[in-house]
Amino acid sequence: MNIHEYQGKELLRRYGVAVLDGHVAWTAEEAAEAARKLPGPVYVVKSQIHAGGRGAGRFKEDPNGKGGVRVVKSVDDVKAAAEAMIGKTLVTKQTGPAGKVVSRVYVEDGCDIKRELYLSLLVDRDSSRIVIMASTEGGMEIEEVAEHNPEKILKAVVDPASGVSGFHCRKLAFGLGLEGKQVASFTKFVTAMYKAFVELDCAIVEINPLVVTGAGEIVALDAKVSFDDNALFRHKDLEALRDDSEMDPKELEAVKHDLNYVALDGEIGCMVNGAGLAMATMDIIKLYGSSPANFLDVGGTATAERVTEAFRIITSDSNVKAILVNIFGGIAKCDMIANGIVVAAKNLTLSVPLVVRLEGTNVDLGKKILAESGLAIIPADNLADAAEKVVRAVKGAN
Ligand code: ADP
Ligand code: MG
Repeated sequence: MNIHEYQGKELLRRYGVAVLDGHVAWTAEEAAEAARKLPGPVYVVKSQIHAGGRGAGRFKEDPNGKGGVRVVKSVDDVKAAAEAMIGKTLVTKQTGPAGKVVSRVYVEDGCDIKRELYLSLLVDRDSSRIVIMASTEGGMEIEEVAEHNPEKILKAVVDPASGVSGFHCRKLAFGLGLEGKQVASFTKFVTAMYKAFVELDCAIVEINPLVVTGAGEIVALDAKVSFDDNALFRHKDLEALRDDSEMDPKELEAVKHDLNYVALDGEIGCMVNGAGLAMATMDIIKLYGSSPANFLDVGGTATAERVTEAFRIITSDSNVKAILVNIFGGIAKCDMIANGIVVAAKNLTLSVPLVVRLEGTNVDLGKKILAESGLAIIPADNLADAAEKVVRAVKGAN
């Protein structure tokens, strides 16, 4: 789960991570109000969307105008900048051409920037540990640095038993060319960020840029905070920070029904139980020459209601040209799944071909229910047969 920059900064501030003063504003008037609470004379107005590249982004309504992050020098200019952002659609490298509507801005104290650096913490799957990454190339996308100048990325792998130590911090600080009091400020920053990362069960915290101020302090100018969804049950307060308007509506619907759903851009809607089987199903669709419109794991306890919800989500996607149901009946028996499919297919009046492959407990009964339903369901006997049939159905439909 992702949150907005201002929310991320608020959380990090509680852990003692150095961030600047700022206030969120939903209207231009509130933005002016927010600016009056700051010392000035320099203010920064920042569009709040779940995507980076805002500074270089442009508004659809004013493609030749300024970007989504603006440095201004008076309260009136703060108001004008907020006016130009709120309710408008910001297009950045990360939003895709559709862009995202800015519903609120963050009004922040202006910073005297001496250097822009990069810092992030993430869970590294190779080492199964938290890795701290740093680079002198602040403001650049780290993926680009990794591609063109991988030697400019510094890493420190943290042992979870001992946690982050002065050694890690000094190694990174010297690699970044920090000196004097900057090293102590950096150490305090990284230590606080590590504590926040662990306690909040984060998946990634990216500070880009991390700046060295004229006074030699280390401060977070941007903050991208993302939580591990599987740990959110431990943080009810964080769940309240979820911004539904930032999510794909299909994915939001899936979260509500406890379905594991990821929207993709292919043409075959998949309904599968178990993440491994779902991955295999997506692979075999590719192998037979088409591509999946989604990843969908209805879980081990697939019930008729969940099958119906899953169908509803899949069929709401206009890219879907055919549906492949691939269910292994274990705890959820095939006859029950078959009944669920029949009810859902009748209720939703499916307008695309539906291929069903069932296997496992009560499979014969399940197949019989489908065959006798009177619905135009294409039965399949195994994974390859199912993939071949669904791809053929799509090609026929095109
Ligand atoms: P994004 O990554 O989405 O473009 P950032 O928060 O990184 O947004 O801001 C873009 C740039 O704007 C930063 O690299 C920095 O140069 C400038 N900037 C952001 N916040 C401030 C601030 N409080 N004071 C001065 N400059 C800022
Ligand atoms: Mg940034």
